[in-house]
Amino acid sequence: MRSAAILAALALPALTTAARAFTVTPVFNNGDSQTWNATEESVIQTAINNWTNTLSNSLSNQNIVINFNFVNAGASYLAQWNGSTSNVPNGTSLYPWSPYVSDVVNINEYWMTLRDPSTGAGYNYTLTLSPTAPGATNWDGLTAVTHELGHALGFSTLYSDDSGNSKAGNKYADLTSASNGQEYFDQLDGGLNVQLHSTTDIVHVADSSDLMAASLPPATRKSISITDMQMLSLAYGYDLTVPAGASYSTNALDCSNLIVNGSLQITSTTAARQSDSVLLYTTGFSVGSAGLFDMTNHDMILANGLSLSQVANLIKSGRNGGAWTGATGITTTTAQGTSSTGLGYATAGSLKISTFDELQVHPNDVLIKYTYNGDANLDGSVDIKDLQILANNWQSTGATWATGDFNGDGIVDIRDLQAIANNWQSGSSSNSAMLLPDFSTVAAPEPCAALLATGLAPAMLLRRRLHRR
Ligand SMILES: [Zn+2]
Repeated sequence: MRSAAILAALALPALTTAARAFTVTPVFNNGDSQTWNATEESVIQTAINNWTNTLSNSLSNQNIVINFNFVNAGASYLAQWNGSTSNVPNGTSLYPWSPYVSDVVNINEYWMTLRDPSTGAGYNYTLTLSPTAPGATNWDGLTAVTHELGHALGFSTLYSDDSGNSKAGNKYADLTSASNGQEYFDQLDGGLNVQLHSTTDIVHVADSSDLMAASLPPATRKSISITDMQMLSLAYGYDLTVPAGASYSTNALDCSNLIVNGSLQITSTTAARQSDSVLLYTTGFSVGSAGLFDMTNHDMILANGLSLSQVANLIKSGRNGGAWTGATGITTTTAQGTSSTGLGYATAGSLKISTFDELQVHPNDVLIKYTYNGDANLDGSVDIKDLQILANNWQSTGATWATGDFNGDGIVDIRDLQAIANNWQSGSSSNSAMLLPDFSTVAAPEPCAALLATGLAPAMLLRRRLHRR
């Protein structure tokens, strides 16, 4: 079962993942009445860049050649992708970038002139390949071509594992399933659960606002959605990049390798502290120097990748002194405007736990949890266990969340004790009266400094003060 946590399993160091790439090379062929001009060719290149900036594959130097044709195809469509695997040897596992796979994108020039060449009648709308957004009487050629490139890159039932003479085991179609008379992509617990156009058209999504919807209204320019990217990533293992300057949000995240150079938010859930509907399942994760990853109220497991100190620095940047308004790093906007919650982090080994949010974890996995400030052991509540951890590390330097440094200054001190005090027994299911101290009296630092000098644990001081009151 895939559940609760945002899981990112890192197989490779972050630095090696950014170099993976593929190229799409366009070939321009003139039509009956239409010849390519520089502006139109630049629009094609923009559509290509839109995809190659967000997707890359695990093999370097892969080149996909696509012929872009102007054709007069009557009124039936704006543009159309045709792919062929006829030259690919049997026994070859097919991917969109496999050698010998050939692609054609036809752009229907019927719609590009103002009059029907067969009847001379005028059209109400024209298809334009322009850098600027389409007017009220135009279909957007950039959107149409970006959509067709989506088919070429895998929104297709064509690419498949080749077994013998049949193309069976389709990588894209394998992830679709029928439910209640409707076809879905990745309909699993915690999956993307993308509703497709119909049971007979599974290469388009049902959401009419999505780039990969079956039709395009006039005066509409669409962008590649993060859902589109994740679907291709799940089916073909593309790495997924949020480009610098781009901003995406999604309520589910599932991809091969995630590189956050722009802004990416996992939409918060209201039902729970961490969601059963959200899962980041990757083989790698990195946040660029200008990247911002907003976990809202979710948890995350980072396996075999970012070190604890790297995670600590990213969270410190996102935390921005406690306001959680950092422009870069790992943040939780859910914690904005409250002093009670934030992102805790620890290795599973340091917590001596083998499961986290019902998922198995390795001792080296770095866990990040949206929780109460003071929840040192990431169990979701602030209680005597956390106070004991803080006491054991009192005034230590080089500290982490798991050793009692909740504000990220590296020192376990009165500020961290205050975090425990403020959230005492938050998240706790028990209402034990044994420890319900009023910590309001410990705010003054001097007594604690004196306490340290005497070697007494802060927990002891708290009890004394409680009794004294
Ligand atoms: Zn289509």
